[in-house]
Amino acid sequence: MLQPAPHDTLGVSTPTLPSSVPWQPPQATALSSPTAPASATPPATPSSTPTPHHLPTTQYDIKAKIDYKTLSLEVNEAVIFSNKNPLPLENLLFVVEANQKPGMFTLNALHWEDDTSINTFTLTEDTILVPLKQALPPGRTATLAISYTLKLPQRQGTLGYTSRQINIADWYPVLPAYSPQSGWLVHPPHLVGEHLVYDIADYSVELQLINFPSETVIAASTPCERVGNTLTFFAQQARNFTLSISSEYKKLSRNENGVLLSAYVFSEHEQAGINALNYMADAITLFSEMFHPYPRNSLTLVEWQNQDGMEYDGLFFLNWNYFEYAPGGARSGLASMVVHETAHQWWYALVGNDPAVEPWLDEALCTYSEKLFYEQRYPELLSWWWDYRIHHYKPEGAVNKTIYEFAAYRPYVNATYLRGALFLEDLRNVMGEEAFFNLLSEYAKQYQGKLAKSQDFFDIAAEISPVSLSELTNRYFIPTP
Ligand SMILES: [Zn+2]
Repeated sequence: MLQPAPHDTLGVSTPTLPSSVPWQPPQATALSSPTAPASATPPATPSSTPTPHHLPTTQYDIKAKIDYKTLSLEVNEAVIFSNKNPLPLENLLFVVEANQKPGMFTLNALHWEDDTSINTFTLTEDTILVPLKQALPPGRTATLAISYTLKLPQRQGTLGYTSRQINIADWYPVLPAYSPQSGWLVHPPHLVGEHLVYDIADYSVELQLINFPSETVIAASTPCERVGNTLTFFAQQARNFTLSISSEYKKLSRNENGVLLSAYVFSEHEQAGINALNYMADAITLFSEMFHPYPRNSLTLVEWQNQDGMEYDGLFFLNWNYFEYAPGGARSGLASMVVHETAHQWWYALVGNDPAVEPWLDEALCTYSEKLFYEQRYPELLSWWWDYRIHHYKPEGAVNKTIYEFAAYRPYVNATYLRGALFLEDLRNVMGEEAFFNLLSEYAKQYQGKLAKSQDFFDIAAEISPVSLSELTNRYFIPTP
């Protein structure tokens, strides 16, 4: 079970990591003082209101009954939203991914804290807009409850069931991150990339299992307490809460410096699952030293039948092919993808970003994190990794396009992930080793629990770098409006 964490840090418990690995962090000398770049400084707020930074995090208190026979959930969700923005808010805008498919999401009731009904909301195919009774000033909270029925569709992916598993991700109405400039950050789905912009929140989830066969195994993005058929989860300062269920999972786990690592794989892939856990453990240790200490006490991997991988806070999914065709060593898609998805716990979960508008910011960093992993742990495989992962595809295209500028998966990955990794390699060569690794750790430190933009990354880079970076960025990036 998670330990309570202070509201102004992301962590729950920070494991002390051993120093028995070759990686040596550079001396932090490039920055005389870790001041935030100007663009990250929130606008001044009236002195009569609390400082938004010190406000409690938005809380989700979710009570759900899940019926294995009907593959449906009855959910009561209470939300306590804290306005951390410098301006009053007129409305709350929930993202409801589950409503995109007709017949899947049924809204039963919306209530304010005093139990009065909310009748003025607007439900669209992916949002619920709730006008507030009066504008919510900075520093104040609004509480409401949403009850709904979720009928899971038969489909592969993040929310639905197949013959082998049930995946329950992005399943509850959620308030996205809010930008003082752009408002609620809601983007439409696109055929490539990700579009949800997650804020940090505290989750309390009570899950009551109905008609569940005894052999059913439940994976979740945070550990649970179980009493009878009721499971209770707590996740603090998290981007989301995710579940996966199957009677075919083999659960594997190991402890790595106080972090519980779990892999839920189909039983025929047990050995590949054990290998995957080893790569997770190695990556957690390395990235904790290179970037920032891993802030959680668990990380879970779930094998799925859908394509590729998909990251969530505390849990990631990975396609079955990587397990089926795993030759048993680090020279494998299984190893590089496990490391990539593990890196998302830093570049996505710890430091958030808008993946629809600036997908390179997490994807290029995660792809380059693979390179760092091979460089440090399997240097003999580094040239294999460059060929297998990058050069084979002859990547081209501007690194910083939005997902909506791509009509197919491969050009999107080539420009955003692969050329993004080439950019970071060149950035490292131009800045120098010490400055580059200081950039990564400063970026993680300054934007942990927040939403970073490309400009924030470049502001820190410009502050740290001993040389100008404009020629390099002009080569890889196109100007944005
Ligand atoms: Zn990724």
